Amino acid sequence: MAFEGLADRLQGTLQKIRGKGKVTEADVKEMMREVRLALLEADVNFKVVKDFIKRVNERAIGQEVLKSLTPGQQVIKVVKEELTELMGGEQSKIAVSNRPPTVILMVGLQGAGKTTTTGKLANLLRKKYNRKPMLVAADIYRPAAIKQLETLGKQLNFPVFSLGDQVSPVEIAKQGVAKAKEEHCDYVLVDTAGRLHIDENLMGELAEIKEAVKPDEIFLVVDAMTGQDAVNVAKSFNDQLDITGVILTKLDGDTRGGAALSIRSVAEKPIKFVGMGEKMDALEPFHPERMASRILGMGDVLTLIEKAQTDVDEAKARELEKKMRTATFTFDDFLEQLSQVKKMGPLDDILKMLPGANKIKGMNNLSIDDKQIAHVEAIIQSMTRKEKEQPEIINASRRKRIAKGSGRPIQEVNRLLKQFEEMKKMMKQMAGMQQKGKKKGGFK
Ligand code: GDP
Repeated sequence: MAFEGLADRLQGTLQKIRGKGKVTEADVKEMMREVRLALLEADVNFKVVKDFIKRVNERAIGQEVLKSLTPGQQVIKVVKEELTELMGGEQSKIAVSNRPPTVILMVGLQGAGKTTTTGKLANLLRKKYNRKPMLVAADIYRPAAIKQLETLGKQLNFPVFSLGDQVSPVEIAKQGVAKAKEEHCDYVLVDTAGRLHIDENLMGELAEIKEAVKPDEIFLVVDAMTGQDAVNVAKSFNDQLDITGVILTKLDGDTRGGAALSIRSVAEKPIKFVGMGEKMDALEPFHPERMASRILGMGDVLTLIEKAQTDVDEAKARELEKKMRTATFTFDDFLEQLSQVKKMGPLDDILKMLPGANKIKGMNNLSIDDKQIAHVEAIIQSMTRKEKEQPEIINASRRKRIAKGSGRPIQEVNRLLKQFEEMKKMMKQMAGMQQKGKKKGGFK
């Protein structure tokens, strides 16, 4: 999980002050010493930490905080607001050109995740914003980059423009944008060449592409796991290319979070999206306030709701809800429900967005991983149609056969059957309660 260490430490520190009825200046100073250490340990840029602490101190020691009725909570509010500010304040939007297509240059060093992110961004533009993007393969130096983009395009069903690796990237970009216009695509994402290090040639070439296609956005893709290196890369790219935003990848593996917290202040450009995994739907718009809320253990219910809205098929969800209500839920429905939940991403990530989830004992070590879901699926798939519809007929010999068919131990089959039975019992009870409520006119 991103920010794990920082989140743990900050929450521990803030917990001590939260419920205090009286907070003194010394309490705040002591707390801020710990916050400072936590931020430094999370690899946040030294100067950024210094400024942050100064700002929080000034506000927290102010009269309106310490003299308030809930000083502990007020101090935490100040920390949250400043943390939000540090990451850019408001969420910044993606440009829309009034003369389509909107041109986006994707730039970054090799290995940062540029090509993958180009596919993810196109996916997000289609799914969330209902746009029609085209991809342009202008990374002619990394041997497999063009092929990789073409494969992504095929897999996701996006048009990909390429001219092989013998034509200059400037020419490819120019022709790509013209082609997008011709095909009425409203976004064009140009995957430019990466290098291992920043060098003059790279910057020169990117500047030429910029001049030639006049992009509406230049997104720099950087790897969160490289910490302060990512911050320095962002600063150089911005100094030389005047980028419009940063996409921070691999935040899923970055337990420290230093880059996410420093980039805005050091490179003076906002983070627009974050990569949260290798899959094509693992790109999220970056919301500073929600991220601050996650770091402080206050949850991120808004992102959770949005995920449910874009990822889950509403008609199917309604149908399932009806089946639950009428207690006609079968193992087939259960499988369907699993696949809907799976679309929203790894389960433990989803759970972590709930407020206070980190405080539930054992939650941090709870690993409801995709593998476990796959096991449940295997068991259900080894059942016959009749068994799925009437699980009560599954006797000992059937259990043995299902275990064998799914390659799972018989205890696991037993456990699933028992859980399913209990779930149905609960559904029946709930349906009964709803029925009563209806009679009173309480439910819609
Ligand atoms: P490029 O050289 O910058 O084009 O890099 P690629 O797009 O080929 O990505 C390099 C590696 O990083 C690939 O294995 C990607 O799957 C992986 N990657 C990209 N973004 C993410 C992310 O957000 N999370 C994780 N865990 N891996 C990522």
